[in-house]
Amino acid sequence: MAATNEEERTRTNTFALAPKAEWKKVCLIELLDSAAALVNIVTYHRRQTYFDDDQTRSDVWNAITKTEIRNRFRPVLGRAITDKMLDKCDEQWDAFFEQLDDYYDGEREDKPGVPGYWKDDGKRVLKACIRNDAYTVEWGEHSRIELALGSELKEKYGIPLNQRIRVPIKGNPQYDGHGGRLELVYDRSTESFTAKQPVTFLHDTTRATDSSDEGCVAAVDVGANNFVAVTTTQGHQRVFHARPLFDRFNHYTERIAELQSQLPENADSSQLIEKLYDKRTSHRNHAQDALVRHLARLFSEWGVEAVYVGKLDDVREKHWSATVNEKTDLFWAHGRFRRRMQTVLEEECGVSVEEKSEAGTSSQCPRCDEGTHVSRNGDVFQCGGCGFEGHSDVVGSENFLQSVVDGDVDLTGERPMARPVDSGQNGPERGHRKVPRLEWNDHCWRQRGHATKEEPTNRSTRKGNLASESGTA
Ligand SMILES: [Zn+2]
Repeated sequence: MAATNEEERTRTNTFALAPKAEWKKVCLIELLDSAAALVNIVTYHRRQTYFDDDQTRSDVWNAITKTEIRNRFRPVLGRAITDKMLDKCDEQWDAFFEQLDDYYDGEREDKPGVPGYWKDDGKRVLKACIRNDAYTVEWGEHSRIELALGSELKEKYGIPLNQRIRVPIKGNPQYDGHGGRLELVYDRSTESFTAKQPVTFLHDTTRATDSSDEGCVAAVDVGANNFVAVTTTQGHQRVFHARPLFDRFNHYTERIAELQSQLPENADSSQLIEKLYDKRTSHRNHAQDALVRHLARLFSEWGVEAVYVGKLDDVREKHWSATVNEKTDLFWAHGRFRRRMQTVLEEECGVSVEEKSEAGTSSQCPRCDEGTHVSRNGDVFQCGGCGFEGHSDVVGSENFLQSVVDGDVDLTGERPMARPVDSGQNGPERGHRKVPRLEWNDHCWRQRGHATKEEPTNRSTRKGNLASESGTA
């Protein structure tokens, strides 16, 4: 793909909702009130668990299941708003745990506050996040917003089930483009609704001379040992290492099998088994969702305009032709990963995501195109032709990138953006020793070698201890 002279910019349109009918106003307030109630319920359960010293950090995440929340709130808020509110909660706790780690690592002076309730003066803060497929905005003679609501709320206010609530809007939109997650707030003192709509649009930089404004393309190799390896046309690279996560997933699977073997003859399952299944899935999903958000942040930072992801069939072919097993497939959940990529990157960041065949990308040397004398052994890739030694999955992403873009991408030269160096991660993959490698530390993806990897014993209050988890579940 040729680089363009355009780059993506995000700005925010702010406008007011001006419902004329009283019932619409009441309906919107009820919507916002329910959204805040959702946040407060999740916050309550997570806080209770957090302040209980016997509980681990993953117990905090699992203090209340998303299924429980969805069952309760989707009838009112609808699917899209419910899910966005859950994301919002996760973002708050992600940020909190990250700050907490920084605090314990001495990178931050003040201890961060535990996420609080959406309350002001004893009343709920009336605020909601609305996914971009749950609203439409139209500017013109009769400017208006249309919002998707849950079926219960529609029935209550007499809105036909196949329609959205339509509310006039006032304002002066500054930016035209692809709308992102809308934030809607009601101010009790002024009795007014305000909407903030982030908008992503293409900004022409033809006159700019800085070549870094050129469109950047990223190739995402879906790996076996690593969740993903990424290489971009501008030389950015990352590896997301998933082995500890995979081990934990297997640990759950084994514990479940053990419990199943102990069940009485007439029982199919038990509450504990169901709970372990739930935990296994939610751990995996949480890490996967955080990975997608992490990628979205990186891609936006790097100005990535298009993302290519390997096709599932190729991934299977590549890694597990002989050993495909249900456990591995379940853990990787590629279909889900790809859907999340699409949702977050395309709908919210305006970056295009395309599936492409990865066939052959793991059996070539990215430095000399040698295809016959190469070998892979776990994470280590070696080329007998030129002597290059690198990280298998990074090699995969480099080759994958070469196969999806027109013209050669030079990855052998200096990579000003590929950092950092000297973080104690000199693995055997010499050619890629400078590629940052990230690991899941139970709430975010962090660089390996970073101090958060080890959990010092005096940090019992960090909720980072996972060792006793399956025993207490
Ligand atoms: Zn070679």
